[in-house]
Amino acid sequence: MKEVYTLGIDVGSTASKCIILKNGKEIVSKSLIDVGAGTSGPGRAIAEVMEKSGLTKDQIDYSLATGYGRNSLDWVDNQLSELSCHAKGAYFLFPDVKTVIDIGGQDAKVLKINAGGLLNNFVMNDKCAAGTGRFLDVMSRVLEVKVSDLEKLSAESSKTVNISSTCTVFAESEVISQLSQETDKRDIIKGIHRSVAGRVSGLAKRIGIEDRVVMTGGVAQNNGVVLALEEEIGHKVYTSPLSQYNGALGAALFAYQKLNK
Ligand code: ADP
Repeated sequence: MKEVYTLGIDVGSTASKCIILKNGKEIVSKSLIDVGAGTSGPGRAIAEVMEKSGLTKDQIDYSLATGYGRNSLDWVDNQLSELSCHAKGAYFLFPDVKTVIDIGGQDAKVLKINAGGLLNNFVMNDKCAAGTGRFLDVMSRVLEVKVSDLEKLSAESSKTVNISSTCTVFAESEVISQLSQETDKRDIIKGIHRSVAGRVSGLAKRIGIEDRVVMTGGVAQNNGVVLALEEEIGHKVYTSPLSQYNGALGAALFAYQKLNK
């Protein structure tokens, strides 16, 4: 029987992610380039995933794009919203998922998933940087730490500093003021994580939270945010090593589905 290869591309606001699937279930290769829509990122991510797979473009049976910049790729076979793709990816990784919390580089969304894995309802914040990866990116720059080190540093905190401003610009001033008072960076970071969790939890409570809760998107790699979110919503939050690839995974799964229709 001929193998079927599908390509999912997630052109995000800050990162471009690709996944190639074999027969709709086996990951052949994946790629992530840390720049997103409107840059060379999507093209580089596609070139990398193809090279890692050892396949040629002719061997890809169907490709599907999702994410903020999905319209910029004109050669793909199809495209779908990231809401559908995140629901699909999370259901593949956790078949009993009911709530998906996706925190990306520029927005946060909460999705309700039905028993068949389809999207039932959603709420989204794409108007304000607070409660998104952008908030963490801005703060890590002010604190002069890498975004990938936030988790480790917050785990060493002994007390939480309260970041009261919900506006990113004012919160940034608060952090600068804390730094000038020589407050421990680790405690400030814990407060920053709590601030993100508070915003996202407010969003999630608007549509109701049901177990199992799965967190996706790049921010899910920061266990400090995951723990703060668990505390805020009072539910266990599950993540996967594929969290940042979840949209691309969903796109590759939809590509397989379209091919078989
Ligand atoms: P988008 O799809 O909008 O590009 P992603 O889901 O790719 O967003 O998430 C990007 C965000 O993930 C970044 O803004 C950053 O805050 C966060 N992030 C990326 N890599 C890491 C990491 N290694 N550890 C913690 N956070 C990360």
